[in-house]
Amino acid sequence: MFTLLQTDTGPNATRARRGRLQTTHGTIETPIFMPVGTQGTVKALDPRELRELEAQIILGNTYHLSLRPGMEIMERMGGLHRFMGWDGPILTDSGGFQVFSLAKIRKIQEHGVAFQSHIDGSPLFLGPKEAMEIQRIIGSDIAMVLDECPPHAAPEKQLREAVDRTVRWAAECLKQPRAEGQLYFGIAQGGTHKALREECAQRLVDLNFDGYAIGGVSVGETEAEMYEAVEYAEPHLPADKPRYAMGLGTPPQLLELVARGVDMFDCVLPTRIARNGTAFTRQGALTIKASYNKDNEGPIEEGCDCYACRKFSRAYIRHLFHAQEILSLRLLTIHNVRMYLRLMNDVRSHIEAGTFAEFRKEFVAGYVPSEKVREDREKAGE
Ligand SMILES: [Zn+2]
Repeated sequence: MFTLLQTDTGPNATRARRGRLQTTHGTIETPIFMPVGTQGTVKALDPRELRELEAQIILGNTYHLSLRPGMEIMERMGGLHRFMGWDGPILTDSGGFQVFSLAKIRKIQEHGVAFQSHIDGSPLFLGPKEAMEIQRIIGSDIAMVLDECPPHAAPEKQLREAVDRTVRWAAECLKQPRAEGQLYFGIAQGGTHKALREECAQRLVDLNFDGYAIGGVSVGETEAEMYEAVEYAEPHLPADKPRYAMGLGTPPQLLELVARGVDMFDCVLPTRIARNGTAFTRQGALTIKASYNKDNEGPIEEGCDCYACRKFSRAYIRHLFHAQEILSLRLLTIHNVRMYLRLMNDVRSHIEAGTFAEFRKEFVAGYVPSEKVREDREKAGE
């Protein structure tokens, strides 16, 4: 189902790839960004708007959807596509990341994790069998295996155990029944440990999945460590299968990861920071609430083709934000999601034209990194 159309050529060629992934609900051109729809909605957007923004695939969240509305209702409603009115491809995560980050009182056992719901404290259990059954009922086009995501800076022993368990659970997931045409992706763990990252990727590839994700990134490690984790795993992943870096990242990080051979991305940043009154532009993040936008007649971003930028001034969106009007959050979300998708359009065109390396260099140089990234870089002595 994955066709590798082209690899980066041209001067200073990177490991960037141009591909095409066929799913039950449509074709995805890669590299691609996938907007996150945790609760069965990409926050503040409806499916018609997602189409207009040219979203090719969105994410759903196993953990959240299984707690609420629950799989009985999901099954009765005929799966997530029908429930939320989105007929394009959907990828679901396995719930592992949320169990390890959100849920209270976990107990990792041989066949899964016992935990308490973060909503009402009720006791629950998620193992490979349960995770794949939930995703079968949701009916996602791409289902992720259940993995163990250890915290950043976990000792080597814990990383080793997480890798072993992740591989064991991945093999178990493969045996579970699937929704029609559903693809299964494995998730490589291993933290920032080179040998464990390599080993985990290789052992998953031996199991033969439809695609491979690099998980356990963006969990508190520095940007440099995150890139290294991807670099350790990537050479072990087969060229003819899609690669997905989970939970990443900022616009320049996406370009850096494309350059390292990654095809698929998801991140809550564009929708989350929109709700804090922040817009992504190609020059960096823009705080719409700042006083310098008070009488600015220009759009959020010059040259952007989104509805918010075509129609409204910064002054107006800033006014809405200060008046606590929902529309400001919706317009900022529309812009941010479109900004990410348009960036990936440009990435694909530049790979095709053999000009990706140049594009990446110029983009990264022209982007003002966030404070967090700057601090990380200082710490790393860059
Ligand atoms: Zn825009």
